[in-house]
Amino acid sequence: MAADRPVSDPWAVPDVPILARSAHDRIAHRRTDEGWVSAAWTDPGSRVLLVSPAGTVPVQPDGWSLRFVAPSEAAVEGVRVLLGAAGDAVYLALLATDEITGDVTGVAGCGWRGLRELATELTDLEVGLLTTAVALQAWHQTHRHCPRCGAQTEVTKAGWTRTCPVDASEHFPRTDPAVIMLVHDGAGRCVLARGPQWPAGRMSVLAGFVEAGESAEAAVAREVREEVGIEVCDVAYVASQPHPFPASLMLGYTARVAGDPRLVIDAEEIVEAGWYTREEVRRAANWGSEPAAEAGMPALRGLPGTMSIARQLINAWLLEDLEG
Ligand SMILES: [Zn+2]
Repeated sequence: MAADRPVSDPWAVPDVPILARSAHDRIAHRRTDEGWVSAAWTDPGSRVLLVSPAGTVPVQPDGWSLRFVAPSEAAVEGVRVLLGAAGDAVYLALLATDEITGDVTGVAGCGWRGLRELATELTDLEVGLLTTAVALQAWHQTHRHCPRCGAQTEVTKAGWTRTCPVDASEHFPRTDPAVIMLVHDGAGRCVLARGPQWPAGRMSVLAGFVEAGESAEAAVAREVREEVGIEVCDVAYVASQPHPFPASLMLGYTARVAGDPRLVIDAEEIVEAGWYTREEVRRAANWGSEPAAEAGMPALRGLPGTMSIARQLINAWLLEDLEG
């Protein structure tokens, strides 16, 4: 399975964003087939992914391959989910309600790791299964009651819906659209900025949630205006990837500044922002963990991680693919 692991080159522009990769069939038509799903949960050939309340999963001794267990080994309380099928194998997830202790048969002695750590190491099949399982774990944890009447809902459709026993309303896993955009000037510079949660020197492209009643393109223009005070044109879609931390879908765009490029920062959301050349952006990744107080260091000395669609947008722009 080594062939479909992503390349580790930090400047790579993958054909498909890291977390958007997938190689299983979701077999949605089976979710309502209760007999088939029950049989899958007793078939020793089924492969079960155990997901802890924190979203971590057991890994093999190599430290980065997912460790699936047989249904009989997955003896913990939790939400049972049909993830899908690939080849002859059926993949299930058990989204644990309580912390999993090391004495669970199938995972004794395993290391546990999370999607953020594993993403760039996993195969297409593994990352598609894990991203889905983590998204569903987060949703089930926070949507246990009916939003109409407050009653406790029941897990239905093999873990893909929750149904209210009082008013029969059906509730689906939430996915919140967010836009993330590389703003350039059409002349070799792009805008990078840092939010208050990021360490000094580490910057990324702008991003924000799509609001109710708003298109993604309008959200790009509004977020850029709000965060750095400039107008944009040529808003163009690039790619999307799920971001289940806890429930986003990141929609990647580029946009070109229209008119005055002077940045006026919204101090609530942005600590610093600037226009940077390709040379400055390439250099930023080489600083690594240099001490922050060193004199003469550039304002930009760190980039988002290679798992992120932000980094993919930046890398593609560095190759001059994304500047029209
Ligand atoms: Zn209800």
